[in-house]
Amino acid sequence: MRLPLLPTLLGFFALAVLTGSAAPAHAPDSRREVPVARDMVLIPGTFVPGRQPDGNSIVLRGTEGLIVFDSGRHPAHTRRILDHAHASGLPIVAVVNSHWHLDHVSGNPMLRAAYPQLQVYASHAIEGALTGFLADSRKQAAALIAQHKIPAAQLADVEGDMATIDRGRELLPDHFVEHDGDRMLAGRPVHLGLARDAVTAGDVWLYDPQTRVLLAGDLVTLPAPLLDTACPPRWRAQLATLDALPFVTLVPGHGAAMDHAGFHRYRRAFDALLDCAASHAGDAVCTDRWLHDVEGLVPADRFKLARGLLGYYLDQVLHAPSERRNRYCPA
Ligand SMILES: [Zn+2]
Repeated sequence: MRLPLLPTLLGFFALAVLTGSAAPAHAPDSRREVPVARDMVLIPGTFVPGRQPDGNSIVLRGTEGLIVFDSGRHPAHTRRILDHAHASGLPIVAVVNSHWHLDHVSGNPMLRAAYPQLQVYASHAIEGALTGFLADSRKQAAALIAQHKIPAAQLADVEGDMATIDRGRELLPDHFVEHDGDRMLAGRPVHLGLARDAVTAGDVWLYDPQTRVLLAGDLVTLPAPLLDTACPPRWRAQLATLDALPFVTLVPGHGAAMDHAGFHRYRRAFDALLDCAASHAGDAVCTDRWLHDVEGLVPADRFKLARGLLGYYLDQVLHAPSERRNRYCPA
């Protein structure tokens, strides 16, 4: 069932329109921690129809404490990060936000409350988002609530996001990532990269040279790319940059970790999706092509979600007039 009013709200509402009924708050397979490499675990984000998602969080252990890559949206997700930290006996000393979408930054205040000394690293893009996209989304959300147009099952998520936006300044980083470079975080040497105008105006990725793991944020997103605030051609170019890195494992913003060959498949699928959208092929053809191209990366039980997402993004972004399609591209 499609609810046409919701998708523009908060940007990432596409998935809330994919089904009329809310799924359970936690998919059973997303509650466990997954070891990624030595001293690195993945706390998987949930991504279920009818609910707003949580992005993946990754916790890296350094000699001086823990580094958290993305803090989630729902308090239940962020609590899992805190539980992990408590169990490790180490403090969280650094948080890196891949981008400002609320499924990746909303947990920052809860982490800061538990570890007041921690330092947050992110790009400048959140500054523009707080006065632009997120402020606008909040206004739309309030109007839709007043008109009783938010389904009851989604109301808590919407109100939670509005409260997060109201505390937006608490999401801001202590340190801006303005260019690629090596950093020492929590006593662990990492490389932070900055992709401009891809998923958002500034997407940060983390490459861990010790383990050759790349934390890609939403530059790699399964079961389908989320194009709400994206510049699609720049995003495509950034995937080529990532492909040149010597990583052996990549953790996406949503979905399971993959090897380099898997990422290569994702990249080719992304290229093919943009090419297909630019051709005269219909939405169904491009969607089928995507599902074929990402074979092995997307489990069959996620195909329905992938179809819903791609149907939405083809209609609303990739097949939209160029002023919408390129709205987030630099002039
Ligand atoms: Zn995300």
